[in-house]
Amino acid sequence: MLAEYAVRNSRGRRYPEPSHSYRSDFQRDRDRIIHSRAFRRLEAKTQVFTRRYSDHFRNRLTHTIEVAQIARTIATQLNLNVDLVEALALVHDVGHPPFGHAGEQALDRAMRDYSSAFDHNLHALRIVEDFELRYPSFRGLNLTFETREGIIKHSRDYKAEDYPQLSEYCLDLRPPLEAQLIDLADEIAYNTADLDDGYEAHLLSLEQIADGIPVFADFYRAVEETYPAAPEKLKFNEALRNLLDRFVTDFIANTQHEILEAQIAGLEDVRTLANRLTTLSPAVEQERDSVKQFLHKNLYFSETLDPDKTDAERVIGELFKFWMEHPESLPQGYQAKAADEPLSRVVCDYIAGMTDNYIQQQHSKHCGGIKTYALRAPS
Ligand code: MG
Repeated sequence: MLAEYAVRNSRGRRYPEPSHSYRSDFQRDRDRIIHSRAFRRLEAKTQVFTRRYSDHFRNRLTHTIEVAQIARTIATQLNLNVDLVEALALVHDVGHPPFGHAGEQALDRAMRDYSSAFDHNLHALRIVEDFELRYPSFRGLNLTFETREGIIKHSRDYKAEDYPQLSEYCLDLRPPLEAQLIDLADEIAYNTADLDDGYEAHLLSLEQIADGIPVFADFYRAVEETYPAAPEKLKFNEALRNLLDRFVTDFIANTQHEILEAQIAGLEDVRTLANRLTTLSPAVEQERDSVKQFLHKNLYFSETLDPDKTDAERVIGELFKFWMEHPESLPQGYQAKAADEPLSRVVCDYIAGMTDNYIQQQHSKHCGGIKTYALRAPS
């Protein structure tokens, strides 16, 4: 039972294809994403912690699966198109370069020297439109309009005048709720997961988290009353899952409330509204912000992670420079692309597609590598 404001049918694919006998268009999009190389590479890309810390921490693939779980739960409760939501959740991070946020910044900085920029949403669109080669009759995955639109528009608005190449995606209109909800589902997933991994890595203590995040402290206190003898780790888990549930439950209830308030009667109402509808209530929004601020202050910018960032900048910066000076060392397909596009864009695309492992191999091969890489661990 889809809500009247849900996406029902697709506007179609760039290259028309006969419909499948039992899978819907959005189910096929989801399946094409799962079978893509870019999706498999997520497994070897950093989310926050590089692989050397522990095999238990999230990588970009497990993060993506967590986002898909949360997004499906929300979409089901709002009677949205769950197949489209799942496709969008699974594809939402395929445009990320190696080494997490540090890698993204390093790549963007390298591109700024050529008066350009790196944007992971735009890169994700290039992957599904061009880089994935799986079908004899077209380049890319030939995804539906709605999935491609969601890749671009789920997390931010791109101004039509600045991005004429994206005009087909109706930049003046909001995306459907199926795309809107991905952004907050993503943030709920990584906020709670990063607390978990930070605690597990001994970079965040229980006291520190409880001091910095009052709503977590409340949950932990309640858990302690119910399970006084339980090990700290299990009490921590219990409090954290209560926090995750609080965000998701409030997200669903508040979005339902916003939909009613705005008198949304169909998809066109969602699209033409000035603002997005998928939000938390003011009180829980404040709690979300407290988690975000806490993680920025205590985890993302903690000194322990500094060597990772320095390595990421060095590896990406040096390799970028190397290929700009030695384009003949790029793989044939990328050399051919340089005939039609600036070399800096070609080098950027090549680097952005790499896993953490592969870029380290390339750095060893062309720039001498970083010898100490495997030796460091959090104190
Ligand atoms: Mg994400």
